[in-house]
Amino acid sequence: MNDPLLIRHYVSSDCTYLASLFYETVHTVNAKDYSKEQLAAWAPSIPNLTLWNKSFLEHKTLVAIKHDMVVGFGDIDSFGYLDRLFVHKDYQRQGIASLLCDKLEENYQKVTTHASITAKPFFQSRGYVLVKEQQVVRDNISLTNFLMEKTFQLLEIAMKKIIENKIKCKKCGEIIESTYRHDFKFCKCGSCAVDGGKDYLKRIGDPNNYEELSICEKVDDK
Ligand SMILES: [Zn+2]
Repeated sequence: MNDPLLIRHYVSSDCTYLASLFYETVHTVNAKDYSKEQLAAWAPSIPNLTLWNKSFLEHKTLVAIKHDMVVGFGDIDSFGYLDRLFVHKDYQRQGIASLLCDKLEENYQKVTTHASITAKPFFQSRGYVLVKEQQVVRDNISLTNFLMEKTFQLLEIAMKKIIENKIKCKKCGEIIESTYRHDFKFCKCGSCAVDGGKDYLKRIGDPNNYEELSICEKVDDK
């Protein structure tokens, strides 16, 4: 029963499973937030496999596997647009979307997405902010979704508990530490400074001139 969850990269032979998972998820999980007409406009049938396969291959696409079956997938393009994120209706609320998202977001400074009404709270809990509500018209049917974005530098700090806030100046070799919020310290040669204590990591000076020595603990966001 307790089969491990595996996240791996997409291969073309997954396409048919992803397309049917999408169709089924939209018509069950999303049914609580959209009318039948809206669901039919959103996912009228199993998507065009040729087009979907092409976009999955162009994007970074990850597939979640459990019990030897596809239980979720997500994809993001090279600009940080998180295109799709769907989890099988029988595998909701098991952390699968979070795990996929963690891996999709890696290496982007900013990620944007068009979140459904159903997915909005999930993205909000991950630190995405609402940019605007929008109406997408498909087959003369209007669907509400939300343009949301997450910027990483800020969030990294918000999601981390700072244990030690310190750097080593590469020019003079001094290690400087900020121990409380307004503890602003320059190194002895004046090339760099730290501030923020345990509240935020503020740096003055060219990042090439210092070595980051801070110790942070990741705070669980769920
Ligand atoms: Zn220095």
